[in-house]
Amino acid sequence: MNLYNTLTRRKEEFKPSDKNEAKVYACGPTVYDRAHIGHYRAYIFVDVLRRVLKYNGFQIKAVMNITDVGHLTDDADAGEDKMEKKATSEHKTVWDIAKFYTDDFFTAMAALNVERPEVVCRATDHIAEMIDLIRQIESRGYTYQITDGVYFDTSKLPDYGKLAGLDLDQLREGARVEKNQEKKNPTDFALWKLTPTGVRRQMEWDSPWGKGFPGWHIECTAMGVKYLGRQIDIHTGGMDHIPVHHTNEIAQSEGAFGADVVRFWLHNEFVMVDGEKMSKSKGNFYTLDDIVKRGLNPLAVRYFFLQAHYRTPMNFTWEGVEAGQSGYDRLLDKIGELQAKTKNLKIKTKNHNLKLKTEKAQELSKAFLVAINDDLNTAKGLAILWDLLRDQKITDEDKLALALDFDQVLGLKLDQVKAPAAVEIPAEVQRLVSAREQARQNKDFARSDDLRLQIQAAGFEVKDTPAGQVVREA
Ligand SMILES: [Zn+2]
Repeated sequence: MNLYNTLTRRKEEFKPSDKNEAKVYACGPTVYDRAHIGHYRAYIFVDVLRRVLKYNGFQIKAVMNITDVGHLTDDADAGEDKMEKKATSEHKTVWDIAKFYTDDFFTAMAALNVERPEVVCRATDHIAEMIDLIRQIESRGYTYQITDGVYFDTSKLPDYGKLAGLDLDQLREGARVEKNQEKKNPTDFALWKLTPTGVRRQMEWDSPWGKGFPGWHIECTAMGVKYLGRQIDIHTGGMDHIPVHHTNEIAQSEGAFGADVVRFWLHNEFVMVDGEKMSKSKGNFYTLDDIVKRGLNPLAVRYFFLQAHYRTPMNFTWEGVEAGQSGYDRLLDKIGELQAKTKNLKIKTKNHNLKLKTEKAQELSKAFLVAINDDLNTAKGLAILWDLLRDQKITDEDKLALALDFDQVLGLKLDQVKAPAAVEIPAEVQRLVSAREQARQNKDFARSDDLRLQIQAAGFEVKDTPAGQVVREA
């Protein structure tokens, strides 16, 4: 399989470095607010990645952190801790805030059928590991201490900023007025922030440098290496993490171990809403509640996001998601029909290993694997699923087996669709349906519409399809 590596700016063939176990680290949420559609897209991408790895037969160990300390409102190590700020505004403890929004995040993930990573780890449970790592970086001469904390001296790394392609000379010349005059370089970042004298934080720990709390970036390096070792196959995050957070993770690894620990850096693009950036003031940070309130299935949102490649920006509109809901409903109907035709065929699918009878089905099966192995092209994968369902020559058994097989990657819960319960259509309704068929053949649409109303009054609904009328209970 091929994945686009932000570091090399090209698609590269992926194989786990350690036999068949792929080691994946995903930057997790900062748990100070509701999870929203921006997160949904990011973690559906991570989920598809893990499913594609499994589909290719790799074992997987995935780690995701929960940031519950140290993420400041300003990337330049100024501003307030997002967690403490929220706790103050809600008159709760910072620990309650963390618990509440962590639960909220996983509730949303479950609704979107996002699998839980093997390891979920909280920053506050790993302060000792972070302190050890900072000491290691310090012992190799990459740090300096100033009034408000311990900083990484980025001028000591000649290739600092390579992930983002940052031009450091330009960056230094054009740097805005630095808030922190003691920092040696504008790109230097805090490894450990000291609690200012006279201030008492809810979250603070003793350290060799004084009481304080870790910088945001150190947690990912510390926990990544703790759970995955010094060879992490894939590290994921949003595009916004490239210039600061991930650039600084690389610096920390190079500082501590002499080399970066990550082989593939993968980044998902943003979600726009109605063509605009998401922002608090516009109130467009939509959450699960907004989706459910509109009568939409969270899995229709998943379907909506799968329609675009993870590296293209996506415009979220309610019309778009409603269209996604119709597409998803049609898909479920199709699978239901196939279940009915095959009498709920029991299919055991595992990792793309099917015995298909029709040649066309075998072709589509290969095409699907090629699509998703081409840097997780779910948009193409979905299109192939529809090609499969619409094909006239493929047997129902093959269609169903292959659709369920594809769904191991798509995660649309197609395996839970049952054949619609057989409903006895009363003779009276059947008579109305035949009469309507006759009326339609005679192009007597007024009578056809009238008969439709009579059918509805009897508690049934009729749909006109290319294959004729379909009747079911209303
Ligand atoms: Zn991170």
